[in-house]
Amino acid sequence: MLWLNQFYILAQTFLILLYIPRFLMIFNIHVTGVVQGVGFRPFIYRLAKSHNLKGSVVNLGDAGVKITVQGDMDQVYRFIEDIRNKAPPLAQIDEIKVEEEKEGESKELTIDFFIMQSKHERESQGSTIPPDIGICDDCMKELFDPNDRRYLYFFITCTNCGPRFTIINSLPYDRERTSMASFKMCEECNREYTDPGNRRFHAQTIACHSCGPPASLLDKKGVELSSSSIDAVEKASKLLAEGAIIAVKGNGGFHLACSAEEDDVVSKLRRLLGREQQPFAIMARDLETTKKFAYISEEESRLLTSSVKPIMVLRKKEGYDRLISPLVSPGLHTIGVMLPYTGLHALLFHENSINAFIMTSANKPGYPMVVDSQEALQKLKDVVDYFLMHNRKIVQRCDDSVVSVIGDKKTFLRRSRGYVPLPITIRKESNQTILATGPDTDVTFCILTKNQAFLSQHIGDASHHETMEFFKNAFQHFQNLLDVNPSLIACDLHPRFATTLLAEQLSQEKNIPLVHVQ
Ligand SMILES: [Zn+2]
Ligand SMILES: [Zn+2]
Repeated sequence: MLWLNQFYILAQTFLILLYIPRFLMIFNIHVTGVVQGVGFRPFIYRLAKSHNLKGSVVNLGDAGVKITVQGDMDQVYRFIEDIRNKAPPLAQIDEIKVEEEKEGESKELTIDFFIMQSKHERESQGSTIPPDIGICDDCMKELFDPNDRRYLYFFITCTNCGPRFTIINSLPYDRERTSMASFKMCEECNREYTDPGNRRFHAQTIACHSCGPPASLLDKKGVELSSSSIDAVEKASKLLAEGAIIAVKGNGGFHLACSAEEDDVVSKLRRLLGREQQPFAIMARDLETTKKFAYISEEESRLLTSSVKPIMVLRKKEGYDRLISPLVSPGLHTIGVMLPYTGLHALLFHENSINAFIMTSANKPGYPMVVDSQEALQKLKDVVDYFLMHNRKIVQRCDDSVVSVIGDKKTFLRRSRGYVPLPITIRKESNQTILATGPDTDVTFCILTKNQAFLSQHIGDASHHETMEFFKNAFQHFQNLLDVNPSLIACDLHPRFATTLLAEQLSQEKNIPLVHVQ
């Protein structure tokens, strides 16, 4: 009898609980880190839906994301746990701040969860946009799938891959503030962009054959030789096998490409560039091909195939000369190798059986890489046979990164594409925002704010006027993205370095103290 009574009371309590309306509160959640341009909003959208939460998510002008949700404490706690644990692979969450809306501000959220139009307001510091991301496996599969509508489309990307740093004009990250703005989405792309179940839901770089930037092949006089994007890339791929030197416009600048197998074309490129000994970097067909001519450790293999896809300095294997021309890196036991990191690169291997191309930045040593199509036609016409172009503007120039594994440690020889503008976190927090202008050759500048050091992309040799113009442009861009103003400048002690002169000029103009260091 006692047992029955207890059961009756329990059942009643349960029924009462069911009928009491649950106490719902509204929470504002600020997420900082790398959370724009990495598929974060679509992720939050799907996550909120799976937690039955109403509310919204919005990109802010400070590169952070703000989420508003309505739910009970427990529900929201579990939601936040999932944000931490299930975030997209390229997102980096530094901090999640949660604030409950005060009484009076709270209102019942009636509509479902949605992605709100981005806001320009800046509410916190410390977030940054992502670097350019190498082509992902899903996009690579679609690129070579004859049944896919992006079959052989050279600018194939998704929320997990594609250019970011090199196309963003300003924040918050949305197509209209990137160099994709001039390419209006077609109906089919728009359908994918607005479909929460699609892997290109809210992918800002979404494009296809009918609406994205087209590729074209031009001869050295600038006369177009191709009838379509597919035709342009196919022809370029065949011409490379015939020994042509081609200027290829990529995401962050122009490369000079030619077969790395034939002595004739390699020595011709050396002669035309006036580079007698300096080693060239190569782009190998794939990891398996690389293993045929270079030793590669587990760590080197991991880095080479990572989403960064940097140039890895690898040791040549015996028999290397049978696959790669000895003129590529003469006198050295190492070779700089990278793998295709865009659809365009992968397609260049499609119509030939070449093991590797020379893929070197199109510039005189120490000068900035050529980024403008007209400038390329002018400056490179005496070096190349053809130009493989597209008509998307390169907002920020960015050279390839060069990485070496020493012992078992990743060591940067050049920290640029794929890493910049991600900050390096240091132990001690600075109470000043410091600009360090760098040395004279192989310059990068650094902006230190709090405990984050933002290093610029590779700038080049500061003794050239063009390089310093690039320096100023890149500095302005970083300042805008980070929303910081230096309160202190540091420069080299050498009085004649162009970086010292610029630091002195900035110090006077902005009335900021200057510190010379060595
Ligand atoms: Zn992708
Ligand atoms: Zn389209």
